[in-house]
Amino acid sequence: MEEQHNKNAQLFFGIISSLGSQAWMQLGKIKNPMTDKIERDIPGATITIDMISMLKDKTEGNLSEEEKSFIDHTIKDLQMNYIVEKEKKDVARLHAMIELFETDLCLAKSLSAYFGEELDYNCQRCSVCIEKEPVKLLSSDLPSLDMLDFHDLVQQLTDIAESPLPVALVTRFLCGIPSPRLFEYKARQMASFSRLEAYPYKTVEKWVQLHNK
Ligand SMILES: [Zn+2]
Repeated sequence: MEEQHNKNAQLFFGIISSLGSQAWMQLGKIKNPMTDKIERDIPGATITIDMISMLKDKTEGNLSEEEKSFIDHTIKDLQMNYIVEKEKKDVARLHAMIELFETDLCLAKSLSAYFGEELDYNCQRCSVCIEKEPVKLLSSDLPSLDMLDFHDLVQQLTDIAESPLPVALVTRFLCGIPSPRLFEYKARQMASFSRLEAYPYKTVEKWVQLHNK
């Protein structure tokens, strides 16, 4: 009886740890040991975290102090990280949307492309078609980027990333748009991450192209 009890306790820790590792992998916090790559799968993480919560509910009143504390902590840590990851994804989507409206392509055309349709003519009615200028969002009162020292801003990134830095990577870094590579570099902890988030993506991109040598 005692022996069976110990065995069950071990199996319980085993299954919670194993589901926990799976969820950390799906959150993109650890590499998949099979592929040695970060493979983020946020919807999958939701299901795995739900499974652990289900096990907690189904075993309620039947766990030792230690088992209960282990499963509680596992769920709490995972849920907190889930919220952070989901937020990052939402911000990235928002940036993609803003980026879209700042192109110098016809807005009707860009919008159709965003929703997976193809418009093969310019509408001739949107502000881009009429004024031949990208739409300006949020950015009219910002100081000129020429006041800033490019090399100073990207120094920390230059120290660890390949050279020359890819323009898209630096632009994302300065605009604060997460990417797997920036995650790998722990770029969010760098002082200049998202320093230029108030500027249009296209403006920052042009500025980076000009200075990134
Ligand atoms: Zn148009």
